[in-house]
Amino acid sequence: MTPLLPTPEHYLYNLITMTNSEAKRLWRRAIKEHFNCTCVYCGNNYEINELTLDHVKPKTNGGESLTSNLVPACRACNQGKGSSHWKRWMRSTFGRNNAREQLILNHIS
Ligand SMILES: [Zn+2]
Repeated sequence: MTPLLPTPEHYLYNLITMTNSEAKRLWRRAIKEHFNCTCVYCGNNYEINELTLDHVKPKTNGGESLTSNLVPACRACNQGKGSSHWKRWMRSTFGRNNAREQLILNHIS
């Protein structure tokens, strides 16, 4: 398991890797592994390479590229959510799911 760190730079500072590209690769992988390769929105399991990383708070609304703002999402959910508010989008798409909402809340808080 790759340790889950706040940014790719932390993989360099901690000498887990020596290159920027590998730091970014490990970081992206660690976020997906942290959620057991599950899309946080629909709850389905995917191969690690099928998952994208979604900005919970959209970049267009000032959401940062930090571990605490990134979650694994399948392509359909990532595109469907777009720049909507994550909880509003999730509820209107899948109905209310307290367990899954809590999983996201724990990650972003
Ligand atoms: Zn999904």
